[in-house]
Order: sequence, then structure tokens, then C-alpha cells
Amino acid sequence: MEQGTEDVPVIYLHEIKRQYMQGETTLTILNGAKLALWAGQSVALVAPSGAGKSTLLHIAGLLESPDDGEVYVGGTATSGLSDVERTQIRRTDIGFVYQSHRLLPEFSALENVMLPQMIRGLRRSETVKRATEILAYLGLGERIKHRPAELSGGEQQRVAIARAVANAPRALLADEPTGNLDPHTADHVFGALMQLVKATRVAMLIATHNMELAGRMDRRVSLVDGEVVELD
Ligand code: ADP
Repeated sequence: MEQGTEDVPVIYLHEIKRQYMQGETTLTILNGAKLALWAGQSVALVAPSGAGKSTLLHIAGLLESPDDGEVYVGGTATSGLSDVERTQIRRTDIGFVYQSHRLLPEFSALENVMLPQMIRGLRRSETVKRATEILAYLGLGERIKHRPAELSGGEQQRVAIARAVANAPRALLADEPTGNLDPHTADHVFGALMQLVKATRVAMLIATHNMELAGRMDRRVSLVDGEVVELD
């Protein structure tokens, strides 16, 4: 993949089609969806429940394959890649944050953030250093030894964000990352995400129902009849 080029989108979804079978009927969820995600830009994906937000995020994150269309990561088409190659791109270039933190309960915050880096093959000492730095950056310097159950909801979600950016991905995809949090905590976690876009120039796509937060992002899009439309 090309590195350091900002004239191509970090992720480009081209004419994405995705259907699901529900009994005898075919549900067309995405129908020619197009979306470019650029370095350093935050994009809010705002659409009603069931519109296909998670599906779009999963396809952009190479967690799911489209029935038709192409996902380009850094200008490289991914449909012809092997599972191993796709997994490699997911590990190095894409971070994912879910509505619930999905941290491993038996590991500390530090270990949860170290794991993706260890899977990638970095030395343990390096992973400790980097995980400590990221957690401190997200205001969790005093919490690194705590297990998820010993952290508040907002802290858990910030650890999940730290884990998602541990391998310095070029894209960060978040599926209702503040959906389970009270407004004040949601604001804090959202602030952490915005801070990361500015500091690291990661391309960010956040599915959210929160119009106030969406209004603070660089760009807003929605899904209408399976296509991505720009709002504003
Ligand atoms: P959103 O995130 O906007 O709520 P989703 O992408 O989760 O929407 O789902 C869009 C539609 O596709 C929903 O009607 C959902 O029931 C359906 N759907 C999602 N995943 C599957 C699946 N694996 N099998 C069948 N239907 C699915």
C-alpha cells in the first residue's frame, strides 16, 4: 500500500451493494453506496436504526465483504486479496470501536492496549511503552493497571479507543461509540476521538444518533435507499 499519500482517500467505497436474505425475501441494505474517507477528516454517519450503518462500517473495515462494488484502502482494491492479506490490512491500517467496549475482562487496560501490537509482532517492551503513552494521552495514565470492571463506562470506552489506535491505523471506524454513555461522559469520549483526528490525521467515520456530536464533526453523511448522501 502507498504510504504518506494524501491525494487518495484512506478508504474509498465504490458502488457497494449488500443484500441479506430474510426468509424468502431479499433485503437490499446497500445499493451503490459510495464514500471517500480522507486523512485528518471526521465524518458522522447519521441514519435511522436498520438503515445499514453497521453494515457499511463492517464493509469499510474489511470485516464483511460486499456482494458487489469495491473497497479501496490507500488506493488498493481489496476484493482480490486473500483472507490473510485482508487481515493484515485490518491489523495495521484500520481501528474499530464498538458501542460496548469489548475489552478482555481478565486483562488490565495496559494489556488490552498492548495485545494488538503484540499480535502484530512488536517487542513486548515496545508495546508497553506505546500503550502507556496512548493511555496517558487519553487521560488514563493513573488507570493502566486497572481491569475493565474497575473502570467507569467512559474510561472503558477510552481504553477501547486506545486499543483501536495502538497500531497507528490510517482509519478509525466507530459504531455508536458513545451510545451507552451518559451525555457528559459521551462528550468526554467524543472529545478524545476528535483530539486523535487532529493529532494523528487518522480518517474517522463514526456512526451516531447524536446530532449534537455529529454537528461538531467535519462532515455528515446519511444512508438513503442504500446510498450514501451528504448532509448539510
Ligand atoms: P444500522 O446499523 O443502521 O442499525 P444494520 O447495518 O445493523 O443497520 O442493519 C441493516 C439491516 O440489515 C437491518 O434490517 C438488519 O436486520 C439487516 N441485517 C444486518 N445484518 C444482517 C445479517 N447478518 N443477516 C440478515 N440481516 C441482517
